[in-house]
Amino acid sequence: MARRSWAEPYRVKVVELIRVTTRGEREQAIAEAGYNTFLLRSDDVYIDLLTDSGTSAMSDQQWAALMVGDEAYAGSRSYYRFEEAVRAVYGYEEVVPTHQGRGAEHILSQILISPGDVVPNNMYFTTTRFHQEYAGGQFVDVIVDEAHDPQSLYPFKGNIDLDKLQAVIDEHGAERIPYVSFETNVNMAGGQPASMANLRAVHEHCQRHGIPVMLDATRALENAYFIQQREDGYAQRSIKDILREICSYSEGATVSSKKDNLVNIGGFLALRDAELARRARALLVAFEGLQTYGGMAGRDMEALARGIHEMVDSDDHVAARVGQVAYLGDLLHDAGVAIVQPVGGHGVFLDARRVCAHLPQEHLPAQALAAAIYVDSGVRGMERGIVSAGRDPETGEHHTPQLELVRLTLPRRVYTQAHMDVTAESVAAVAADAEQVSGLRFTYEPPELRFFQARFAPL
Ligand SMILES: *Cc1c(COP(=O)(O)O)cnc(C)c1O
Repeated sequence: MARRSWAEPYRVKVVELIRVTTRGEREQAIAEAGYNTFLLRSDDVYIDLLTDSGTSAMSDQQWAALMVGDEAYAGSRSYYRFEEAVRAVYGYEEVVPTHQGRGAEHILSQILISPGDVVPNNMYFTTTRFHQEYAGGQFVDVIVDEAHDPQSLYPFKGNIDLDKLQAVIDEHGAERIPYVSFETNVNMAGGQPASMANLRAVHEHCQRHGIPVMLDATRALENAYFIQQREDGYAQRSIKDILREICSYSEGATVSSKKDNLVNIGGFLALRDAELARRARALLVAFEGLQTYGGMAGRDMEALARGIHEMVDSDDHVAARVGQVAYLGDLLHDAGVAIVQPVGGHGVFLDARRVCAHLPQEHLPAQALAAAIYVDSGVRGMERGIVSAGRDPETGEHHTPQLELVRLTLPRRVYTQAHMDVTAESVAAVAADAEQVSGLRFTYEPPELRFFQARFAPL
């Protein structure tokens, strides 16, 4: 069959110039950055795949919206536009604006969790878990086992295991569980979706026990796309419809607008219960800002309102977004590079254990591979392996996670398929010659969240 390509559903109106550096410049830059891609200056990066958080390109409509932002301290018109967008697209009545996702997580955890409570989650996100524990809660992982296996092809690796959930209820009692924290398109599992059947079943199960379900709906749009593609009965349903149904199986949600919502900063907590929202707003004033801005400028809320509508106005947007990730994944897979499968919603994860099979984990294979890819082409990814996992506070030994990965995360609407071709060719070239990648050792190791600041040298 003749190949039929698809293309990005937008055209370019403004460009941001990026610089192609020489190999010599990159060798110098990575040495100065202590072989840590977090410490590179973005001017030295050609294709930046460090994160998809806050790195999206806004549309002409969003840029125009900045100009009509209402900066009133109270009662801003832009807030009401944003509130209307959340109600229309996500279907929650009560909207509490925050500066970004973690602000919403903080407020939600503080109003619902008491010390000694237990909060079941499907895997974890760093800030979500932090805020649950900071409020005195105990985090428990109830995700399906397949999520922890990089070789498993299970289509819904974000699902909650109902038996694990029931075991938590049996052990602690429903009254010690303030809510179930259900993340859509689980970030740390590689952007893996939950099925609608599972979202529905978890909600029904929780209702029987009087436990609310709170979504981390930061990546619910990408989850909706996978449901449309993979789940029986959803192929003909619109993304807008599927997203609404996902949210219907919850009592509220936290959202980082730096992802699906196509803006560079912002977030919100959304709830159905007016009394709960009243308690959230009481805390909001102290930690974020007044209830009609919560840490965002009027113009931010104006652009956010449009971003929320734009993400669902046509199914073409998310199809191209996830499609670009799949395109890069297919190129790498076809080139014989070991990646985590199935490829998720926001990035491709290279399996550094298999790519750099000559390096034992204590020689930091993923960190070394990320640095080698940068030197080859100026493509910046990040380590998700032994360096990110840190040390056991009791024994002082390195945690040795099963997953030793390099993450290549795609910003939304920023790069073209040609950038994906360049990326795939570079990764394939480095992987083909992987014995040349030398291991690394720490030269500086900070005590907390070491991956951000650590420095290394080649062995
Ligand atoms: C990014 C992210 C968050 C945190 O949001 P911030 O805006 O970075 O504070 C929470 N959950 C998920 C799934 C995320 O991807």
